[in-house]
Amino acid sequence: MSPTPKPGILDIAPYVGGLAHVEGVGKVFKLSANESALGASPKAVEAYKAAAGGLDIYPEGSAKVLRDAIAQQFGLDAARIVCGNGSGELLTMLAAAYLRPGDEVLFSEHAFIVYKITTLANSAVPVSVPEKNLRTDVDAMLAAVTPKTRLVYLANPNNPTGSYLPHDEVRRLHAGLPADTLLVVDAAYAEFVRRNDYESGIEMVANFENVVMTRTFSKIYGLAGLRVGWAYCPAPIADVLNRIRGPFNVSAPALRAAAAALKDRAHVDAGIAYNEKWREWLTVEIRKLGLRVYDSVGNFILIQFGKDRGKTAHDADAFLCSRGLILRGLVNYGLPDCLRLTVGSEEANRAVVAALAEFSDRK
Ligand SMILES: *Cc1c(COP(=O)(O)O)cnc(C)c1O
Repeated sequence: MSPTPKPGILDIAPYVGGLAHVEGVGKVFKLSANESALGASPKAVEAYKAAAGGLDIYPEGSAKVLRDAIAQQFGLDAARIVCGNGSGELLTMLAAAYLRPGDEVLFSEHAFIVYKITTLANSAVPVSVPEKNLRTDVDAMLAAVTPKTRLVYLANPNNPTGSYLPHDEVRRLHAGLPADTLLVVDAAYAEFVRRNDYESGIEMVANFENVVMTRTFSKIYGLAGLRVGWAYCPAPIADVLNRIRGPFNVSAPALRAAAAALKDRAHVDAGIAYNEKWREWLTVEIRKLGLRVYDSVGNFILIQFGKDRGKTAHDADAFLCSRGLILRGLVNYGLPDCLRLTVGSEEANRAVVAALAEFSDRK
């Protein structure tokens, strides 16, 4: 008999990442994982290569060079920053630190699937709260709070919907939570948001003892393959994370490359401007084809297809794949009629619109 894992673990459907290959198709555009259209900063690549000379040496365990760079960039207290092997590791550590068996964890209906995984992995109970127009419904979230609610995950903006909650709505959500319930604001796409009523979570963490914000180097910084993220925490929570994290959880090349990426503001700004332009272009062009495209503040858009035979999201996915265009199907996100498209290179974006035009014209 094989050893039994903790209750909940076998209820987890393993995470499936965006596809990268199509059988029988040579050149593909991977538009399925919200990776950066512009790639990493050349300065980050250079720093990564320079680190190759020191691979025999353990990294500095507290990630000090990177925490200092982040603190300086965002005007934060470095002691309250914890770095992780991707922000996913931090989301996982927070669950491991604060959830007891039977605790409830709230997140919205179409939230990032990692939240459900970290919940089940700790024998806690996932509570999926219905959204309104593909946006987190704060009233519904608050109505779902019980004495067992220990943690609330909020992706802001959310993936895969592309919607966001304005600052006052996040404040209202927080105000309705008990003081011993942790609100985790996952701001993986914060840099892409250009809205006056948006706040990534820094201000919330500054003001409240039960809010943590997570950020990543996987999206705007183009370092998804390197695995670096960070959390900004109240001091007691940073202390907890530092007790349970792996002693060398971020590699030395990752620390160097991420710190260099952070300092290359021109590259980040170029990424933001590029994303604005092409997200808008894709949205407009795909709407012209008669497809519904939801407004997005991220580096991806959500496209809705019909139900007629030959015209479904599943059909579109197969058609696009045959042309080397890999989008993300969202059946496991409760959005079977939708595909998510990452803003890509100009060539990729134009190819997607051309292929969708062909798909729409098809009898
Ligand atoms: C991409 C993404 C992340 C980033 O995860 P990493 O582990 O930092 O690569 C986090 N949250 C959401 C909602 C995402 O879409």
